[in-house]
Amino acid sequence: MTSKIIDGKKIAESILEKSKQKAKKADEKPGLAIVLVGNNPASEIYVGLKEKKANELGFHCERFNLAEDIKQDELLNIVDDLNQNEKIHAMIVQLPLPKQIDEQLIIGAILPHKDADGFTSVNLGNLVNDNNKLLPATARACMELIKSTGVEIKGKNAVVVGRSNIVGKPTALLLLQENATVTICHSKTKNLAEHTKNADILVVACGKAKLITKDMVKPGAIVIDVGINRVMGKIVGDVDFDNVKEVAGHITPVPGGVGPMTIAMLLDNTLQAMELRR
Ligand code: NDP
Repeated sequence: MTSKIIDGKKIAESILEKSKQKAKKADEKPGLAIVLVGNNPASEIYVGLKEKKANELGFHCERFNLAEDIKQDELLNIVDDLNQNEKIHAMIVQLPLPKQIDEQLIIGAILPHKDADGFTSVNLGNLVNDNNKLLPATARACMELIKSTGVEIKGKNAVVVGRSNIVGKPTALLLLQENATVTICHSKTKNLAEHTKNADILVVACGKAKLITKDMVKPGAIVIDVGINRVMGKIVGDVDFDNVKEVAGHITPVPGGVGPMTIAMLLDNTLQAMELRR
């Protein structure tokens, strides 16, 4: 059996096109601020992609490149200015932040209705309460990709590998909202394969190149690979794509799966933030 490849790039393009049309019709330009601290090469690439797409969609996009050794108070002041800035409907502070900065403090300083990434405690709390407002973009991306297969989620066994606040946990909560039976695995999970082999829907977000091999996947499963790992100059996911595609029913590639969808969801969140302000 060979799986159907879920073309995240193509699905993302159609969502981006809809966002472009919405932006065109709006009476003001959707405003997104992107804050990058330091020179992390991966972060620079992600921020560059987000900025490029925001501009292509006709958004008002402001990028802040801040020094690696910026003081926490200075960064807080910038976030506060953006909170007050009428032209800015939403902002992202690209993670990770340098050691001298308390990430939770900075994220917590973003006004919840301007929280494009959906990382504030208020937005995560809303998700726990099934009262979704601005959702973490990657978790939304995973759900859109799963839904694109047309396979019913209700009653299925879903396994999420990874429990970060920005990917694993929110994805698990969204799967739960869709009435899947959800298991969350992490680095202390014993016999990972026993769990993954039971998954009708498997979302992998652990940052370990090719951790999930063919023998760990249930035949016919939907496999969503969030991982981005650099191995000998090449980007690979957390799933051994070439072999797992022989058993999975549907699978996302890396690159070209979750990555482009995350950007599409982030920009859609910006439009939602604009509506929330109204
Ligand atoms: P984190 O490092 O914050 O979390 C990784 C999670 O994986 C942790 O919960 C950890 O467990 C778990 N884990 C690590 N090793 C194992 C293992 N051997 N078995 C089972 N679980 C394990 O990462 P993120 O959630 O931020 O990101 C995960 C991956 O997704 C990364 O590769 C990242 O680059 C990528 N990513 C991709 C995005 C995209 O747009 N495509 C967006 C965001 C992230 P524990 O909690 O016990 O430490």
